[in-house]
Amino acid sequence: MVSIHPAVDQGVKPGAQNFAGGTLKCQCPQNPVEVAVKAQCAYNHVCGCTKCWKPKGAMFSQVAVVPRDKLSVTANKDKLQIVDPAAAIQRYACKGCGVHMYGRIENKGHPFHGFDFIHTELSKDKGWAPPEFAAFVSSIIESGAKPDQMGDVRAKLKKLGLEPYDCLSPGLMDAIATHTAKAKGVLKA
Ligand SMILES: [Zn+2]
Ligand SMILES: [Zn+2]
Repeated sequence: MVSIHPAVDQGVKPGAQNFAGGTLKCQCPQNPVEVAVKAQCAYNHVCGCTKCWKPKGAMFSQVAVVPRDKLSVTANKDKLQIVDPAAAIQRYACKGCGVHMYGRIENKGHPFHGFDFIHTELSKDKGWAPPEFAAFVSSIIESGAKPDQMGDVRAKLKKLGLEPYDCLSPGLMDAIATHTAKAKGVLKA
């Protein structure tokens, strides 16, 4: 039995229409960090990279984006620290429990500048848009998955309706390439 992520292992649950966000909480039993998100998330997906925060035992993280101006830290902000200040995505993790509360891009030239990365499973609010695809699938080998498991993993993802990609989805890869082409002047706006 392959476990992708607890939020999808029993099937992907649909989101709610008109859902307008909720509160993310870290896993500290006391004084949890709280983050208010005032928008539905977009591009939710499961991610196999080694940088995204994953719950214990999960092969994949679950990660989505929201506009950065819709996200604010509302409690225990002093417990947050940036995991790797040199990374393109600055992931703010709780010093107490290690959970990543959000990731932010400060480089204005980055294709995803303006979006924060969040893990919707940290919210008890129901209605978040569910994962749509699986990104960086091959990278789970770097976290300890066996290469000969990959056939089973990809089969399970397909069964869940989460098309497996070894980079991002075609829509997001096109968005990155479009951004780059505009920056180079190859594509006129
Ligand atoms: Zn915590
Ligand atoms: Zn990732």
